[in-house]
Amino acid sequence: MKILHVYSGGLDSTVLLYKLISEKNEVSTIGFTYGGKHNRKESESALKICRRLWVERTTIHLNFMAGFDSALTNTNEEIPTGHYQAENMRRTVVPFRNGIMLSISAGVAESKGYDAITIGAHAGDHYIYPDCRPQFLDPMEDAIREGTEKRIRLIAPFYNMDKTEIIRLGVDLNVPFEDTWTCYNGGDLHCGVCGSCDERKKSFIAAGVADPTRYVA
Ligand SMILES: [Zn+2]
Repeated sequence: MKILHVYSGGLDSTVLLYKLISEKNEVSTIGFTYGGKHNRKESESALKICRRLWVERTTIHLNFMAGFDSALTNTNEEIPTGHYQAENMRRTVVPFRNGIMLSISAGVAESKGYDAITIGAHAGDHYIYPDCRPQFLDPMEDAIREGTEKRIRLIAPFYNMDKTEIIRLGVDLNVPFEDTWTCYNGGDLHCGVCGSCDERKKSFIAAGVADPTRYVA
């Protein structure tokens, strides 16, 4: 299958990239920057891994989203710390981010003759992020299929898996976890205390897999 993979450089979408390649798909990646504090580090990770795999990458800059109300984009607001599925993490939602990224991806996929779009949304995202839930992704799949001449598919193979299961799959696929970026704070190292780092840390422990990530705390 000819696949356009929505790829951030994060752990989940990297494991999915390796899975798609191992299944002999023809894969290209598309990534987005939207004024997020971590976008630069994510992009570096994504580029590094795409180069290593000889996979094409297109980056779309969504500058207008820098004005969206989110702790990820507000320069004068700290990223909340704590558990990934805690109430204060709602500030890390970027309004309709997946809806916007998937709509653009559908147009690119139709233009360039792709059969499907893939996204690494997983079960741990459901609680906080409305546009990662099956209730959103299922109708979005219908909308992309009905809205494209080629009836392009939207595939989210991880949407019933948690990060622990994704890490175990990544081990089988020889994913270089140390080159993936998870932290919402875009520092030199993973901060270790934001919700996203917290989930990453705990998932490696739950998976029984050595975590190669260097954390500040
Ligand atoms: Zn962090």
